[in-house]
Amino acid sequence: MSCNSNTGKHNEEDYLCIQCGNRKVTLTSWTNKNPSRRFLSCTDCDEFGGWVDPPMCRRAVQIIPELLRRVKTLELELAKSKARERRMKFYIAATWVVVAVLVMWKKT
Ligand SMILES: [Zn+2]
Repeated sequence: MSCNSNTGKHNEEDYLCIQCGNRKVTLTSWTNKNPSRRFLSCTDCDEFGGWVDPPMCRRAVQIIPELLRRVKTLELELAKSKARERRMKFYIAATWVVVAVLVMWKKT
């Protein structure tokens, strides 16, 4: 591997898997140790092909997992709010149907 870890530049041969010869893809690590750091990997044999991005500073490694945790919490709250909104729309529609039926029933 002739990767320059400071610039993240790779030669064309760095993109070929040593094990099977297939082309590696760029993936993103979401581990606490390497959050949002890209690396090369073969999708067929899971061969690790080296880092695309240079190591992150310690502060970023501390902050990014916490930010990701907060994003997940907010996404969960958003999903709950959307479900609650759908339920409320259903209740409103059901109420209108009941009112319409009562109005029709009183007219007859
Ligand atoms: Zn491979």
